[in-house]
Amino acid sequence: MKIVVTVKLVPDPNAEKRIDNGTKRLVRTGVETVLNPYDEYALEAALQLKEKAGGDTTVTVFSMAPESLKETLRKALAMGADDAVLLSDAGLEGSDVWASSYAISHALKKVGFDLLIVGGLSDDGSTGATPGGLAEYLQAPLVTNARKAEIVDGKLKIERETDTGYQDVTAPLPCVMTTALTFGEPRYASLKGIMGAKKKTIAAMSVSDLGLSHAVGQSGSKTQLLSFAPPPVRGKGQVIEAADGASGAKAIFDFLKERKLV
Ligand SMILES: Cc1cc2nc3c(=O)[nH]c(=O)nc-3n(C[C@H](O)[C@H](O)[C@H](O)COP(=O)(O)OP(=O)(O)OC[C@H]3O[C@@H](n4cnc5c(N)ncnc54)[C@H](O)[C@@H]3O)c2cc1C
Repeated sequence: MKIVVTVKLVPDPNAEKRIDNGTKRLVRTGVETVLNPYDEYALEAALQLKEKAGGDTTVTVFSMAPESLKETLRKALAMGADDAVLLSDAGLEGSDVWASSYAISHALKKVGFDLLIVGGLSDDGSTGATPGGLAEYLQAPLVTNARKAEIVDGKLKIERETDTGYQDVTAPLPCVMTTALTFGEPRYASLKGIMGAKKKTIAAMSVSDLGLSHAVGQSGSKTQLLSFAPPPVRGKGQVIEAADGASGAKAIFDFLKERKLV
């Protein structure tokens, strides 16, 4: 079985995000790039499925990102992925979700997969729309928010996490799955993994390899970012001082009641 995991390379989530006023794009220079945290959970799911399936199951990580970020993918290889594919091309710059999903899906058709595991959300763009876009372009069923997964009788079977519990869902292969953050903490790369990752392959793809019939990049995008603004600055909190617990509780209750919160 061939499992492919999409991994977005994003600015360090702990660093302050800045959008360029001119291009209206996220500033990626001067900030460390890391694997999108959600995608580490997707990779963990893939590695667990590989361990269970054994045999000739392989895990390939796929990313669409600038060539200069290629080495960031070594972390995924060190965690246990067998190889990686990087789609890079200046022609992809300015691609919105529509154009990105279109390009990525065509690359994935070339790579081939039985199971495609996609993180539920990126830490930077955060539309959560890519999994649906990929499933549509690939004409493959999409099962979302898996907290457990297994292959049973050649089908994917998942526990799909919901607000009220979980659902058992199956889908025939090939299909697309997204993972919930409850799937299991992503593993750390071992020293052996880090050493082994140096010898693993990161294959390169560009737009000319994809045989696209529509434009990508800015001209192939259908949405336009018109304006952006930082979230409003939070006001100072109010400290309530009270002589004892009971009067403190009453003061908090009165505070909430005044704002119609209780
Ligand atoms: C008008 C416009 C122009 C843009 N121009 C640029 C640009 O020039 N450069 C740029 O980097 N972004 C650009 N973006 C953002 C880019 O379109 C999105 O980052 C991309 O479509 C993915 O959407 P998302 O980040 O919301 O991912 P989500 O849908 O939130 O991500 C869900 C999952 O999809 C997968 N995924 C998403 N993106 C990738 C990827 N690139 N590789 C592998 N897996 C992926 C991951 O597994 C991720 O967990 C632009 C957006 C707009 C609207």
